[in-house]
Amino acid sequence: MSGTASLHPMLVPMFETVLQRNAGEPEFQQAVLEVFQSLGPIAERRKEYTDWSIIKRICEPERQIIFRVPWVDDKGEVHINRGFRVEFNSALGPYKGGLRFHPSVNLSIIKFLGFEQVFKNALTGMPIGGGKGGSDFDPKGRSDNEIMRFCQSFMTELYRHLGEYTDVPAGDIGVGGREIGYLFGQYKRITNRYEAGVITGKGLTWGGSQARKEATGYGVVFFAEEMLRRVNDSFDGKRVVVSGSGNVAIYAVQKATQLGAHVVAVSDSSGFVVDEDGIDVDLLVDVKEVRRERLTEYSAQRPHTIYTEVGDNSSIWNVPCDIALPCATQNELGEEHARELVANGVKLVAEGANMPTTPAAVHLFQDAGVLYAPGKASNAGGVATSALEMQQNASRDTWDFETTEDRLREIMIGIHDECVLTAEEFNVDGDYVAGANLAGFMRVATAMSALGVI
Ligand code: NDP
Repeated sequence: MSGTASLHPMLVPMFETVLQRNAGEPEFQQAVLEVFQSLGPIAERRKEYTDWSIIKRICEPERQIIFRVPWVDDKGEVHINRGFRVEFNSALGPYKGGLRFHPSVNLSIIKFLGFEQVFKNALTGMPIGGGKGGSDFDPKGRSDNEIMRFCQSFMTELYRHLGEYTDVPAGDIGVGGREIGYLFGQYKRITNRYEAGVITGKGLTWGGSQARKEATGYGVVFFAEEMLRRVNDSFDGKRVVVSGSGNVAIYAVQKATQLGAHVVAVSDSSGFVVDEDGIDVDLLVDVKEVRRERLTEYSAQRPHTIYTEVGDNSSIWNVPCDIALPCATQNELGEEHARELVANGVKLVAEGANMPTTPAAVHLFQDAGVLYAPGKASNAGGVATSALEMQQNASRDTWDFETTEDRLREIMIGIHDECVLTAEEFNVDGDYVAGANLAGFMRVATAMSALGVI
């Protein structure tokens, strides 16, 4: 795999073992390599972590669960999907991380997401370990009843692995408030216990937290705001492009707009829409969240907009902007896209999605002096607010929107500052990738070494 040349010599054999043990899992290998590329200074200065084989142990999930999910569609036909839960690391707290329902889901994708989640959760400073799960089920075009039956079947196996102190899932691609409701309902039915803290992203009237729905998108913008503040700049008047039009993208658009930015484009897997008057967030919420329609419908309601289908030569990243926020999916922003963005004068890229920027594109941004934030730092607001939801559930309390949003903003500022200070400590000033990986790794590694070889 390319990129191994940049590894510290002590890490090369460890990475070769990762490649061999996880053959055919390119996304997982990519995520591990990205972290390893930052760990050189640790191998030099913090021998205790290598002595305890922490780097080796951290790459191996504590537990991986794969199960059959049978369900019956509205016509009576039986379908079989595959369910996953990878419980990656519980050194800092119960496994915590979302569930993804998308046809592309496989073990490699769930493992890369779980691995990222370990360091992301550590960066929040909250007592949560890392895990991730999901299924290759495709919710697109399915009726509410079909979604409910699928969720019930999925939870009928998963429930035995969950618990407030064991493993606490949430949403991700294809899993929003509706799915969390069906999943929690089935958990409650099977266990006969109203354990609100067993899943997050719940509705506001049944144990959910204010600002959880908005948290990932708002958190990305709060993080980017701090990056801009550090160079005496702000969102005010900036031209912004946001990929995706799901949960993360919608609320990134909303917060950037509230901070005075001009958001001109959003996308889905079929195409992208350019709205030079600024994306109308209320319409976007209505089309995507309420009516569950495509972006073509948004464009139809705003005749001055231009909708373009994605193709070889057309991508949302061709739209000129000052700030790019990739908020759709992994590896959606490649080297050619990065080149185009840089040529068009992009100043900052902050990831809302997990690993949306390919390694070549990341290096291109960093070499061009573009401020770049990796998702494990900049999109941590979602899981941080999930932990706030768990806190409210545990104390049987509910906080108002402003209180919760203020806590979220404080957490994002804290993560930002920790990335900056850690990068300075290891002489890689301004490198948010190294700062995030080193800070997250050290927090997990310190706990792992205290807990012994387990
Ligand atoms: P949603 O399902 O709400 O939205 C996903 C969006 O991304 C949709 O617009 C979807 O388009 C688009 N998309 C999905 N797959 C592809 C693809 N292969 N190519 C192009 N576009 C695609 O998911 P979220 O907004 O919750 O998640 C988006 C990203 O953010 C993911 O990487 C997720 O892991 C990450 N994330 C989410 C968090 C959360 O709290 N929800 C927390 C931290 C990270 P279409 O409708 O056409 O499929």
